[in-house]
Amino acid sequence: MEIAVLSGKGGTGKTTVVAALSSLAGRIIRVDCDVDAPNLYLFYQGKDIEKKNFYGGKKARINKTLCIKCEICEEVCKFGAIKNSSIDSFLCEGCGACTLVCPKNAIRLEDEKTADTFITKTEKGILSRAIMGVGSDGSGKLVTQLRKNAKRFVEETQITILDGSPGIGCSVIASITGADIALIVTEPTRSGLDDLKRILELSEHFDTQVMICINKYDINLDMTKQIEAYATKKGLFVAGKIPFDEKVMESVNSLKPITSFPDSIAGKAIETMWIRMKNLIINFN
Ligand code: SF4
Ligand code: SF4
Repeated sequence: MEIAVLSGKGGTGKTTVVAALSSLAGRIIRVDCDVDAPNLYLFYQGKDIEKKNFYGGKKARINKTLCIKCEICEEVCKFGAIKNSSIDSFLCEGCGACTLVCPKNAIRLEDEKTADTFITKTEKGILSRAIMGVGSDGSGKLVTQLRKNAKRFVEETQITILDGSPGIGCSVIASITGADIALIVTEPTRSGLDDLKRILELSEHFDTQVMICINKYDINLDMTKQIEAYATKKGLFVAGKIPFDEKVMESVNSLKPITSFPDSIAGKAIETMWIRMKNLIINFN
């Protein structure tokens, strides 16, 4: 059972929800698919038991001994990556156009390491994560690899929680593909509702049960009602409504899940949401 926690954009409180659900769910598998801003490790530290290079891109390289400095490659590169028969690897997008025009076959594309992937053993189970190289972009391929790495440790009926990237890009698609449940975290603002609609459009392409979590629902009750009405119209389950709670900041600063603060109203609301989700998961199975 894979649960992907997603949001239409950053800053909706997705991390708070993921860290809390991860804690409530006990010994589960966690995958930090938010590869551009991974932070599950901060909440669930442990011992790295595996580290591997991830090659997610291609970069062009010029063989200087073959190059005759004709500069044809420079003219064809749309990314301005070639100057004076040298390639700036930060600008090279690996499109391969230069390799096609070089009269001396002096250019070739080479695999580029874009991240390190880790399997981390924590007190609460396995965490699959990555650290991107400087200047590298997060990619769907990397997310798919992290999910694949995690699958090796999944025992029967064990829950996997995927902390997805915000937005609707490739890495989000890779987070949601094949997941059983997508929990979309939103906030009660006009842009929150628009982002929710965009991510729902995306999820409609997948065979995934969608649930909604409205974070800080009480800061704008009118928008919360609009989101609920939209969910009802679409036949979607609002799994939880989390109130604004100043304790959340304390939880983020101390890197402890909000559910470990007994007097937190947000923590209580997430606990209630988890119970409702579990009931649905039982029926789902
Ligand atoms: S096209 Fe080939 S030979 Fe010409 S400058 Fe570029 S690398 Fe050198
Ligand atoms: S691979 Fe594409 S982006 Fe990179 S140097 Fe060649 S033409 Fe430019």
